[in-house]
Amino acid sequence: MELRICHLYPDVLNLYGDGGNIRALENRLRWRGHDVTVTPLPLGAQGSFTDCDLIFIGGGQDFEQELLLADLARGRGAALKSAIADGVSVLAVCGGYQMLGAYYQNQAGHRCGFLGAIDFYTEAGDKRMIGNFAFRCGAESGGSAVVGFENHSGRTRLGSGVSPLGQVLAGFGNNGADGGEGVRFLNVFGTYSHGPVLPKNPVLCDQILETALARRYGACTLAPLPDAEERYARAAALRELFPRNWREYV
Ligand code: GLN
Repeated sequence: MELRICHLYPDVLNLYGDGGNIRALENRLRWRGHDVTVTPLPLGAQGSFTDCDLIFIGGGQDFEQELLLADLARGRGAALKSAIADGVSVLAVCGGYQMLGAYYQNQAGHRCGFLGAIDFYTEAGDKRMIGNFAFRCGAESGGSAVVGFENHSGRTRLGSGVSPLGQVLAGFGNNGADGGEGVRFLNVFGTYSHGPVLPKNPVLCDQILETALARRYGACTLAPLPDAEERYARAAALRELFPRNWREYV
């Protein structure tokens, strides 16, 4: 099998090494003998999502998110919205995640009108939500406990018919109030988890890969990999977050 990944805005949205998620996606397929192509789509680049199986979008600061507006308005936004509706898989992190909703409003009250591809909005609060955190994915996303790092002022509120990616176990998540983290809509995985999130969360990484491959090849289950280092890194993060009962989340 072959997976075609589009890395959207690698030049603008790449906070906390979010680009490392591409390495994890690539390697976990190549180690299984499959082919992967990665196409970067920086600001202003030509290129479409037509032959793309998985779109990755990293995080960015408020001013970086503003830089996207003109490029989105020139057709990229409509193309991304159409790709999501057509079932192309997406992994969107923090600012990239916020971009899929109706708008992001910064602390000064300035509102960036974004895609509206998914029914949610984000408004910055006066206190940043920063720190290591963990959440448990819903069953439809593999059900694993995911460890990561969050740093956002945005409070995301999902529409009534929209599911979070998971439930917060420690930290803030979408807004620090409703217990939800991220979003799961069609084949979109949105999360506030930087880090990058995928290298130390192999179950989530494989879930995203299987979802992206299924659209072209039908349902598939990837063969297990010897994930000793990945499990060790995840266990270290779990011990930090849950010193007394971290084994409950392994
Ligand atoms: N600028 C957005 C916020 O502060 C997103 C931050 C990020 O991508 N880490 O909420």
